[in-house]
Amino acid sequence: MKFLKGTKIYSIFTGTCPVCQSESMYTTTNPYKISSTLKMKERCSHCHTKYKIEPSFFYGAMYVSYPVGLIFAGFAFFLCYLIFGLSLMATYAIIVVEMVLVLPIVLRLSRNIWINFFMHYGHPLKGKQRT
Ligand SMILES: [Zn+2]
Repeated sequence: MKFLKGTKIYSIFTGTCPVCQSESMYTTTNPYKISSTLKMKERCSHCHTKYKIEPSFFYGAMYVSYPVGLIFAGFAFFLCYLIFGLSLMATYAIIVVEMVLVLPIVLRLSRNIWINFFMHYGHPLKGKQRT
C-alpha cells in the first residue's frame, strides 16, 4: 500500500488522516472492536487537521454507505448466484449474513470516503479548521 501514499485510495483503505496520511483517524485500527468502531480522534497529531469539520459532519457518510454496501452485496450475489449457482433464497440469506459481518468495514470505508470528498492530501482546510 505504501506506493499509493498521497492518493485518496490510500487514505480511504487505511483510514489515515486525509491531509498528511501519517496516522489513523480512529482510536483503534481494528474495526471489529465494536465499542470503538466509530471512535475517532479529535485531531491529527501530525498536521492538527480537525476531522469533524462541523457538527454532525459524518452523518453525510450515510449517503456513501449505501453504494459501498451495494458493492459488497453485489459481489456476494455475483459469487453465490452466478459463479456457484446457488438458489436465490440461499444467495439472499448469504447476503444478509454478509451485510451484518461487513458492517464495521462498510461504516469505516464510508467515513473515509466522505472525509476525502472535503480534504485533500497536503492541503489542509482553511478558515474554521484552526479554531
Ligand atoms: Zn494529518
